[in-house]
Amino acid sequence: MQNDFLPPAATVYANTQLYEIYAEPSPEPQKRSKKKLRWGRIFCFALLLAAVLAVFSLLRGEETVADLSTLPPQDICIVLDAGHGGKDNGSSAEGVLEKDLNLQMIMQLGENLKKKGYKVLFTRETDRFIELEERAAVANRQKAHLFISLHCNSFTNETANGTEVYYNAENGAELLATAIYDSLLHKLGTKGRNYSFGRYTVLSHTRMPGVLIEVGFLSNAGERAKLCDKDFQADAAAAIAEGIESFIYGKAD
Ligand SMILES: [Zn+2]
Repeated sequence: MQNDFLPPAATVYANTQLYEIYAEPSPEPQKRSKKKLRWGRIFCFALLLAAVLAVFSLLRGEETVADLSTLPPQDICIVLDAGHGGKDNGSSAEGVLEKDLNLQMIMQLGENLKKKGYKVLFTRETDRFIELEERAAVANRQKAHLFISLHCNSFTNETANGTEVYYNAENGAELLATAIYDSLLHKLGTKGRNYSFGRYTVLSHTRMPGVLIEVGFLSNAGERAKLCDKDFQADAAAAIAEGIESFIYGKAD
């Protein structure tokens, strides 16, 4: 049957020729466009990579605090660091050595946190010397979520007394410090001296929210007596544990 819609054979031929003439590219521009395409892809990939990295670095700040509250205590690792030890006594007064008080209180804190279900690791559980960098390295290697270093203070003026808490530059550390500071002052009734950013080696080397607590002054006779008292030590440990709990879950039990 005759198809009335088909164009005459000559027209089809002419169109094909036309197409071939225009479609045939010269070799030079093709090379250039392939090169352009490759650079375009590399540029797009780099742009995408930069965007992903930017989003990650933005999220990283909020990640620590937000994610911890979604974890059960048994998935949260807390490294506890009793200041000084071994050949390093820390401060001392009237035969009382700071390293001993730090260890006594940190072991009680560990018990408190274990009872609450947290995974607890110690930088030292005995009277032994550890370098400051190594204390931070323990927490970093274990990928701990929080780092708590415990100390007692000392000053030439014996009237100086009260509690101080220092925090590192990791996101959430200041909140952790204030939670512990408030809890300590509330439970111990000590004078609140300060909580602030601290340039201590153990804090600057830890890659998770970390705090250094100065519970009280060994150089102050009244506070020294309290620091040596078992009930006061138990209260200090309980207060720190409650501060940690309130930082993570926004509450204390
Ligand atoms: Zn100390």
